[in-house]
Amino acid sequence: MHTLPVTNPLRRSTAQIKKFRRYHRSPLYQVADALKSIEMETLETINPFTLAPWEERVQGDGQDLPETQTETGGVMRIAVSSSARNEMVGFGVAIEKQPPRYRKPRLKTFSVPLGARTEQNPYSGELAAMAHSLNTLRGLKRCRVMLLTSNKAATLTLKNPRQQSGQEHICQIYKLMQRLRRHENRMDIRWIPTSEKNQLLGLAKEQARDATQEDTIPQAQAPRMKSTTLNIARSQVAAGQCLPENVGRYSKRVDAALPGKHTRKLYDRLSWKEASVLAQLRTGMARLNGYLYRINVAETEQCACGQARETVEHFLFRCQKWTTHRTEMLQCTHTHRGNIFFFLGGKSPLDGQNWKPNLEAVRATIRFAIATGRLDAT
Ligand SMILES: [Zn+2]
Repeated sequence: MHTLPVTNPLRRSTAQIKKFRRYHRSPLYQVADALKSIEMETLETINPFTLAPWEERVQGDGQDLPETQTETGGVMRIAVSSSARNEMVGFGVAIEKQPPRYRKPRLKTFSVPLGARTEQNPYSGELAAMAHSLNTLRGLKRCRVMLLTSNKAATLTLKNPRQQSGQEHICQIYKLMQRLRRHENRMDIRWIPTSEKNQLLGLAKEQARDATQEDTIPQAQAPRMKSTTLNIARSQVAAGQCLPENVGRYSKRVDAALPGKHTRKLYDRLSWKEASVLAQLRTGMARLNGYLYRINVAETEQCACGQARETVEHFLFRCQKWTTHRTEMLQCTHTHRGNIFFFLGGKSPLDGQNWKPNLEAVRATIRFAIATGRLDAT
């Protein structure tokens, strides 16, 4: 609507609409804003399809490959591993070639720093390691090539590539494998759990850790992983999220935490009646004179006891009409008596990171409110 051409009759109306607001910006805008300092040219491109449907997928576990016949070139095991530490991601490779006719196996290792942890992840490291090592096998003929990794995600992705992060590496791996197949090499990929001690993978891991030592600098710019970049931006946006000052003023006095998992925990096991009572108390929109007067339903905001305004706090902790009903609530705690955060399952500003609502106290409060009958419609 905001881009209508000048000749459009609606243009005069839409031109007057305010286009940019500082409040209530969409999640898309917020993420775009968090990403504005990142050069999009370095970000990887993810296509809808990785491979054509008819292209042959790499086989796993090698059980369907008979050990016999034409492998006159011998057997080659390639172990890849990645490492993420010191804010870096790097990979290591160990290649063991067993030539035919009982000659001694040859071993080769190398380690490559890939990029910063803000751009790469261990999974992209594994894929980059495979592409890199397959690229060194030019001229290999009639050999059986086995890729070993302890990263299950990388194995599954290679067997069934989709529209996902790391796709450029996967395309490159497939291209290189096709070239190797043309020279009558046979390929498969094997996932080996870390619990299963594998010497070659251990060597690769050592190399990977070498690549992420402090102060290593990657030689080339690898495509920046979209998944990692987005995750970081999202967590930055989430950290700055809070309710505007004037929203939920009452609820914040009951619960300093944003509505979240703990809110569900509070309500999930309650009956309809109990939930309605708790919602009244937590929102302050309760059938108490303090609120009823505000919405012009009651003639006074005073409590029937004549002592004070009938607020949620007065009702729960102070009103003398209900003293006998309060025994159970008082038994819940000695230190939190009269603490509205505690009795309504809210987080108080003094509570630390590991705070959890005390469900027993909340249930006692609900039973109290139901027993008084004060919140029931009359
Ligand atoms: Zn009262």
